[in-house]
Amino acid sequence: MVKKMQPLIIPRKGHSISRKQVNPNALRTLHRLRDYGFIAYLVGGCVRDLLLKRTPTDFDIATNATPGQIKRLFRNCRLVGRRFRLAHLHFKDEILEVSTFRAAAPADEVDTEETGQSKKPPRHLINDDGMVLRDNVFGTPEEDALRRDFTINALAYNIADFSVIDYSTGLSDLKQRIIRPIGDPFVRFTEDPVRMLRAVRFAASHNFVIEPATWEILCALSSTIPRAAPARLYEEMLKLFMLGSARPVFSLLDESGLLAALFSGFSQWLHRNSQHLTFVHANLECLDKLYRSGTPPSPSLFMAALFGSSLEEETLLRHRDGIPRQQALDSACAIFMEEFCKTVCIPARVGDRLRRILAFQPSLHRMPPRRPAAMVSRPEFAEAMAYLRLSVETRGENRAALEWWDAFLSDDHSVMPPEPSNTETPAKRRRRKRRRRPNSVQVAV
Ligand code: ATP
Ligand code: MG
Repeated sequence: MVKKMQPLIIPRKGHSISRKQVNPNALRTLHRLRDYGFIAYLVGGCVRDLLLKRTPTDFDIATNATPGQIKRLFRNCRLVGRRFRLAHLHFKDEILEVSTFRAAAPADEVDTEETGQSKKPPRHLINDDGMVLRDNVFGTPEEDALRRDFTINALAYNIADFSVIDYSTGLSDLKQRIIRPIGDPFVRFTEDPVRMLRAVRFAASHNFVIEPATWEILCALSSTIPRAAPARLYEEMLKLFMLGSARPVFSLLDESGLLAALFSGFSQWLHRNSQHLTFVHANLECLDKLYRSGTPPSPSLFMAALFGSSLEEETLLRHRDGIPRQQALDSACAIFMEEFCKTVCIPARVGDRLRRILAFQPSLHRMPPRRPAAMVSRPEFAEAMAYLRLSVETRGENRAALEWWDAFLSDDHSVMPPEPSNTETPAKRRRRKRRRRPNSVQVAV
């Protein structure tokens, strides 16, 4: 259990959060809960980000109202979650999450997988490795704060008096830009290995430092990351790589051993040749630039930026062994997906789109291309072009092809080399006359 401390309460004039910065729907929800006599706090990442003057990605609300009471107060409420009921408030273009304060496992209630034989399913369940499988008990505001992952994520903003409440060392860690788990890092990372990825993500995206003792434990426990559910790891991977800090995220994953634990084959390839690392770093920097320019990468483009070079190399090796290029790429991608999905569950459509992006490249490189207008209408064209742009920027190859396509797409046909006449219009097919076989019998199939 995490040691309880006197909470630090910072009154309105002692902090920088103003109601103007709070999402209007969240503000209305907080007011309504308070008007009906409930405690209502903004909690989690939004308080952290508001104090750092960053725009929060979402506004989470915690209250002492039970899910049933929340449902009665808000007509737009739907309760979700079978074990732990959460309230989702549906607004025109967003959903807000309102949760009832939760507590960590009281020692006498923790059940293990082995002993969990009671008729009623236990509210808390841990497995033999100490990983929390269920965590479903209502608690006080303080208990709710102390079961959160990091001190900077455990701050609350109280709508009753506009104060900020710190139950741990969140405010001082925020000032010193430190990522520190609440309680013992070994226990907290064992309970939920995904917290290691979250530590890396916040350190990279917020330019914070992971507290040194915590970093050591994270490195020591990095090999346990595959214990987390593959679907959850995929969700976390998207957040790690698609939100503008892929490059610093990657270095921390690599240094900590998390990368090797998640993608062992890829990590071996990466360190086989220093150029591999250079290419991947440069690709990820390009992804971050895309994000900053307001065109966030799609999941398959991110996958191509990260794994494309290794898959292309694998394809080339197979092709040199005599396998046709297309077939070589298909089998390289299939083997990659099979290995990958054991740890991180990539949706099949994303894996397929990754394969198509790579398969499209030779057609984009071919100068002049065959039937460019038809190529533009293919669904994977935009992502394949983005990947071409990425590889021109990082490897400097195929620049002429990229310039040709840019000119073609901007309709500046003066820059285009003349196209061979037989490529612009589909070649006329000669109609073959069907020879009738005498006495042939037609069979219905
Ligand atoms: P962002 O939304 O900017 O990615 P966040 O910190 O708000 O960051 P969320 O996933 O929205 O992250 O989670 C909201 C809050 O829930 C967190 O701030 C943290 O307090 C708590 N939380 C999320 N995941 C965990 C976890 N694995 N263990 C403990 N607490 C967690
Ligand atoms: Mg959040």
